[in-house]
Amino acid sequence: MANNFGKRLNNLRRELASRGLDALIVTHAPDWYYLTGFTGEAGALVVGKGQCTLITDGRFTTQAKDETSGVRIVKHKEGLFKEVGEFVRRAGMRRVGFDSGQMTMAQHHALKKATGSRSAYKSANGVVLALRTRKDEQELAQMRKAAILASQVVQQAIRLLKPGVRELEIAAEIEFQMRKAGASGAAFESIVAFGERAALPHARPSAKRLGKNELVVLDLGAILGHYCSDITRTVYVGTAPKRVREWYKAVLEAQTAAIAAVRTGAACGDVDAAARETLASYKLDKYFVHSTGHGLGLEVHEDPRVARGQKARLEPGTVITVEPGIYVPGIGGIRIEDDVAVHEDRSEVLTRAPREFMEL
Ligand code: ZN
Ligand code: ZN
Repeated sequence: MANNFGKRLNNLRRELASRGLDALIVTHAPDWYYLTGFTGEAGALVVGKGQCTLITDGRFTTQAKDETSGVRIVKHKEGLFKEVGEFVRRAGMRRVGFDSGQMTMAQHHALKKATGSRSAYKSANGVVLALRTRKDEQELAQMRKAAILASQVVQQAIRLLKPGVRELEIAAEIEFQMRKAGASGAAFESIVAFGERAALPHARPSAKRLGKNELVVLDLGAILGHYCSDITRTVYVGTAPKRVREWYKAVLEAQTAAIAAVRTGAACGDVDAAARETLASYKLDKYFVHSTGHGLGLEVHEDPRVARGQKARLEPGTVITVEPGIYVPGIGGIRIEDDVAVHEDRSEVLTRAPREFMEL
């Protein structure tokens, strides 16, 4: 991917020029990875006209030299933000952007103090994130692999669902299988929820044992080559009552409708509405208590938000999740989640696991 970093830096510089900024201070690790390939967790990247400097501490300088090219690496001795401020002052940068969502008040204060009054800091939130939303072919290829890996792991986990097994055992197995298949780790703490616990959209795995005649929600994601996947499948252990089958059918129909609404130029709110209206036609929308999906990439939750009323339009290269669900207190929940890439003229479901209702 090495040659893409220069291209991304130039896209960023173009964006900074259009905002009248001399430089941007990048303080979010996925952002500096995207721009330079540096995988360390601490530091700050200053991108300006014709220059790109990473200021980090002694733990990361060797790694930074190995992982990047064309990036000046500076080791800071005192506080990071003091060093960054002094760098900005010495470089004579006058209008400097920063992301207020990725910096504490104390850091901002240290930065301004070290810079002095000749430079002005302007909030430029989400500038790199906006670039990250449009994935290139290499990124999409990586995300396809991450989605396939998660699809395989969810199917392996379903095979382990036998009455008596604990949620935590399944969660441990999921993480073991992901790493065995080459993932650097889980994109988030896996959700394994049996029975009534499946009615909690974000249930953490517990010591609960699987009983007979229970819904099971499995929601997991793998990080593969830095990119995340995110998949949910719901199965029934036993023979499902008629109403559970009907609920599943409604959720599947809602998900299918939302996926069909994914196209370049569609508003994110319209994708959400496609799922919500389908569930409303079954009078189940009151049980759909979250948004339809979220952007996916270097982070598991990134822009855009696929939620009610969102006006942001889908662009080629964007990857989102489509995950409607219903949660009926005291009974359980049903969610089906796939990762979907937006292309110029079509959408592509990256997830590769059956969605049909399964009774085990
Ligand atoms: Zn998920
Ligand atoms: Zn998700």
